[in-house]
Amino acid sequence: MATGNPATALETATAYEVVVGVEIHVQLKTASKMFCSCSSEVRGAAPNSNTCPVCLGLPGALPVINRRAVELVLATGIAIGATNPEVTRWDRKNYFYPDLPKGYQISQFDLPLCSGGTLTVETSTGPVEIGIRRAHLEEDTARLLHQDKPGGGRLSLVDYNRSGIPLMEIVTEPCITSAEAARRYAEELRLLLLTIGASDAAMEEGQMRVEANVSLRLPGAEKLGTRVEVKNMNSFRSVERAIAFEIERQTRALDGGEKLIQETRGWDDTRGVTYVMRLKEESEDYRYFPEPDLPPLRTDASMIAGIRAAMPELPAARRARYSADFGLSSYDAAVIVGSAGDYFAAAMATDPPVDPKVAAGLLSKIGLREQKAQPDLLSRRNGAELAEVVRLRASGAISSQSAEDVYIEHLQSGESVASIVATKGLRQMNDSSELGAVIDKVIAANSAAVADFSAGKEQALKFLTGQVMKESRGQANAAAVAQLLGERLKK
Ligand code: ADP
Ligand code: MG
Ligand code: ZN
Repeated sequence: MATGNPATALETATAYEVVVGVEIHVQLKTASKMFCSCSSEVRGAAPNSNTCPVCLGLPGALPVINRRAVELVLATGIAIGATNPEVTRWDRKNYFYPDLPKGYQISQFDLPLCSGGTLTVETSTGPVEIGIRRAHLEEDTARLLHQDKPGGGRLSLVDYNRSGIPLMEIVTEPCITSAEAARRYAEELRLLLLTIGASDAAMEEGQMRVEANVSLRLPGAEKLGTRVEVKNMNSFRSVERAIAFEIERQTRALDGGEKLIQETRGWDDTRGVTYVMRLKEESEDYRYFPEPDLPPLRTDASMIAGIRAAMPELPAARRARYSADFGLSSYDAAVIVGSAGDYFAAAMATDPPVDPKVAAGLLSKIGLREQKAQPDLLSRRNGAELAEVVRLRASGAISSQSAEDVYIEHLQSGESVASIVATKGLRQMNDSSELGAVIDKVIAANSAAVADFSAGKEQALKFLTGQVMKESRGQANAAAVAQLLGERLKK
């Protein structure tokens, strides 16, 4: 979401080279589950109501591949410049846990749907290209709920509604060198997935889960250091904080002569620390083997050509276009494309034309307030009303503060921008004859302050400006007041 300021990188001073690799799971936007016809929409469903023999893992139930899920992974691959093998395969990842009734998860091991690719992100130190290793398709597991048992003890409940929902896992190379770049990568990937319609990727709803592998090594060392995998980060901000914390913790450990162990740690957002969850399992532990119930999958050329033809304009291209067409800075273009692309375009298409830079400035300022006010306000956005605020602001008819307030008020009440400005009396006094009269009145009534100013007391100017604002009931345009007052006092 847009904020007024560029994300500030968390300070992490370390003498070591930082190596981060990120694994992201996203829930794909399909109507049905990965291998059965149960719905993928489980919000509000009673526990275990959205299940069938396939996603419950009952013996003898056979999986059927969801074609849409395959297409969405292929589309992601095309968007990041990955290569698709002609044949991909399904594999069983074996482990025992109550969230996995079959005792194995159907995933892809050595022949994923997408291999390679890159995503370039903008950081405070410039653009960084992130290398992507692979993207593959797998199924989600059940959800466990741990509670206190009436009468004492603990109780674990299993809800299989989510079992079998299609997930895409996207894995980067161990090539990210800062917490900030890792965060930006996750944000950029989310925007890309939203753009191509592969996922809604709402982190707070668990539709996008980010895990970061963090290690340090001496500068110039060839071998990678021992990595720690960090989980449970529930916002982009926590992703950055958790990695920064790990860099610091590992630096201290290595400086103290400690040997790091390969482990999985969780992020505690309240305490701002990572804690040990378990020792990290190796892939041998999963005994991957080809899934006997599903044939290898051929990705035919016409399917890929179809996806390519339907590909929308991607965020990077759109940013470049907005910079070129509207003269936006790369920062403003990134904010707009990241949070308000279509909406901004709608405002730009109105007549008479509005100043794109004023619109971009307003949007990046109100982004956070819009969200805080009420997330569903975003669905009320209207390009014509935005254009109206921008016109009023650009002509000086309203102040920049009023522009923000009016706009938020419009979203909240649905009342038109023009009518809010009129009923609240927000129009600024710009007209120099009208304003001049107010200023003359203030000068006449405050001869002591005028004398002070002539004697070199700068404070007096502030006082007089304040009196003009008061006299105009806050409607005077501050810039015009400064100019007119200055002119009159110099005489
Ligand atoms: P796993 O089997 O645990 O998923 P992978 O070898 O597939 O492990 O790597 C998972 C992620 O960890 C990848 O993003 C990879 O780039 C990253 N990674 C691997 N080794 C390191 C390391 N030493 N330091 C940082 N990241 C690493
Ligand atoms: Mg992994
Ligand atoms: Zn099912």
